[in-house]
Amino acid sequence: MLFDNHTHSQFSFDGRSTIEKSAASARAKGLGGICFTDHWDYYVPSSKTSASHLTPEPSTTDAKGLETFDIKAQQAEIDRVSTLCGDSGFSILKGAEIGLGIRNREHIRTLLSLHSFDEVLVSVHYLEDTDPYLGGYYPGKTWREAYGGYLETLYTEALWVKDFDVLGHFDYICRYAPYPEASLTYRDYPDLWDAILKMLADGGKALEINTKTYQAYKGGRTPELDPEILQRFKDLGGEAVSLGSDAHEAGRVGDKFAFFSDFIKACGIRYACHFKRRRRYLDPL
Ligand SMILES: [Zn+2]
Ligand SMILES: [Zn+2]
Repeated sequence: MLFDNHTHSQFSFDGRSTIEKSAASARAKGLGGICFTDHWDYYVPSSKTSASHLTPEPSTTDAKGLETFDIKAQQAEIDRVSTLCGDSGFSILKGAEIGLGIRNREHIRTLLSLHSFDEVLVSVHYLEDTDPYLGGYYPGKTWREAYGGYLETLYTEALWVKDFDVLGHFDYICRYAPYPEASLTYRDYPDLWDAILKMLADGGKALEINTKTYQAYKGGRTPELDPEILQRFKDLGGEAVSLGSDAHEAGRVGDKFAFFSDFIKACGIRYACHFKRRRRYLDPL
């Protein structure tokens, strides 16, 4: 059975579903479980659009206004909803989507020492003091520079953190890009990709296939998953990927999982996986 390892609940600043509703949706779709990875971005650019308004370092004692969540309350709610499910065998897992960035390094280390999770997913939403979602970061860059710079940041920061389970939405940067080149491919960055995939394979970590990326965005641009990335992951010893819908509402939980299961299998990878108390469990595709 497959697990949706990347979803957002009412505890995320932009969540539009409750843990109860999204868990019910996952069960109804025949998934084995769901992990709630609410947003934990400790550094959010103040202007969110340009590099011209830099914020000072956020205070480590005041997380107000940052894109974080009440971890204790989220985990208590997961326990409550799990109890409602009884011994059905369906798992509701405790996670977080932790935003990587050079400013967040020490903070992430502290966060992970203070809290226990089933799954730690890391990703990049903000870089160069900008928010790509709002059109920042891209101006003045070619598509090759923009995508490569994002991938480089993801690699450098994940390598520094080390203590994570899933590398989230590597192609997030394609979703909101202004270029006709809609997809991030292996052949454009082979050395960087090899370093990333080897880091994941050697550490028993999972590359996330984020199904939210593969849909039509502004201007009809539709990013596609490059099979070569998965084939290379397998060649470098990668065993399992993580499936994530990145759903912010209950209806999208498990979105396109059947299609991507077949796609991933056709690339030679036999397993998806999920994490419980930071331990990886393989789920045959
Ligand atoms: Zn994200
Ligand atoms: Zn997310």
